[in-house]
Amino acid sequence: MKKLYIETLGCQMNKSDSERISGILSHFGYQETDNQKEADLLIINTCSIRQLSADKAYSQLGVWGKRKKDKPELKIAICGCVAQQDKDKIRKRAPYVDLIFGTHNIYELPALIKKIENNEKVCAITNVPFAENQNNFQINRKDSVNAWIPIIEGCNNFCTYCVVPYTRGRERSRIPEEIIKEAQNIIKQGFKEITLLGQNVDSYGKDLNNPNITLANLLRSLNKLEGKFRIRFVTSYPSDITDDLIKAVDECEKVCRYFHIPMQSGNSRILKEMNRRYTKEEYYNIVHKIRNKFDGVTITSDFIAGFPSETEEEFNDTLEAMEELELDYSNTAAYSPREFTKAGKMTEKFIPDDVKSARLERLNAKNREMALLSNKKFSGKILNVLVEEQTVKDNKVILNGRADNNKIVHFESEKYKIGDFVNVKINKAQTWCLYGEPVD
Ligand code: SF4
Repeated sequence: MKKLYIETLGCQMNKSDSERISGILSHFGYQETDNQKEADLLIINTCSIRQLSADKAYSQLGVWGKRKKDKPELKIAICGCVAQQDKDKIRKRAPYVDLIFGTHNIYELPALIKKIENNEKVCAITNVPFAENQNNFQINRKDSVNAWIPIIEGCNNFCTYCVVPYTRGRERSRIPEEIIKEAQNIIKQGFKEITLLGQNVDSYGKDLNNPNITLANLLRSLNKLEGKFRIRFVTSYPSDITDDLIKAVDECEKVCRYFHIPMQSGNSRILKEMNRRYTKEEYYNIVHKIRNKFDGVTITSDFIAGFPSETEEEFNDTLEAMEELELDYSNTAAYSPREFTKAGKMTEKFIPDDVKSARLERLNAKNREMALLSNKKFSGKILNVLVEEQTVKDNKVILNGRADNNKIVHFESEKYKIGDFVNVKINKAQTWCLYGEPVD
């Protein structure tokens, strides 16, 4: 077997793609390794959501290019969002790259690999997905407890700061039968958690022209599958969370009480500039609706600091929203202009870097405050934890896992193992995690 090394940058969708790439290549004589120095084929799966991630990809290619000078038979490939967007730039900056393939070309890999093995330089970037039944391909899943299932790819929303509609294309849902079959296999293999993935997961089914195909109904179907396992879904678009989806989460005992709903800004004018299809008030209503329905639910979000033209007062609305809604945790980032996007062209409205950094610092401080507040609410409560990891510290076995509401919990025990569901009484809350002890 030849050795394959994959470096994955970016989101869960990229991680899921890398698992698929590894699975496909395992049928063509490539075994994945964690040691890039022993690899015969190096692949970088890239992210272009921020300039920093794209820069990382080029810098990694530079390192690999130097290695290829000493080992000319080494093959180098680049895929993912940077590849989809920047094929000409890659050819110029890294002419030693053997294969550039786009987000739509993963299932074309068997043919592409054959070509580079015959010393051809290949660039396969299409705007139309390579049509294949995904269930025909093996997936080398990295995690032993959680399995990702992409259910919808692409996005139709065109938020003015985002490259996803350009790199992943328009929304394409997989048919429910295919997803259910993949879920059945996953459960048979012993996975205890399924995470349904989509850039805009609540839009699932809209492109399939059948009103019965919705995320809510998919959750209902998956919930009926036999076995003890959990179901999660990410990422939600605020105004696409329907009453029926909330009802389905309530009805289905296997679906976690956890919603990731990016707000991006707490100010309605900025939301309009971002082309987000909701106002601050509408976002508040959705959060209140979910909080009123479920006890102990966690709601997490994403925010951007320093979007073009954002004033200090408008930024303060974001801090206020985090606090008023008691958001349990948020991913934060300073605005990063992206090529092709509308906001990327608003150069005269760009916020200076030092102002963006100062706002990001304040956003992070508020985030830490809210995360601690959220964790403290669980002190003394019992959470059902799925064990994901085991470590030994000072001769004690420490188990780490996540509760149904996605809270990270650590506890000491020699009785349980990875994959077990354990009731844990929380006795200490810190900013990023909870500590407790198992109870019967
Ligand atoms: S909804 Fe998400 S993925 Fe789609 S354009 Fe907006 S930020 Fe990008």
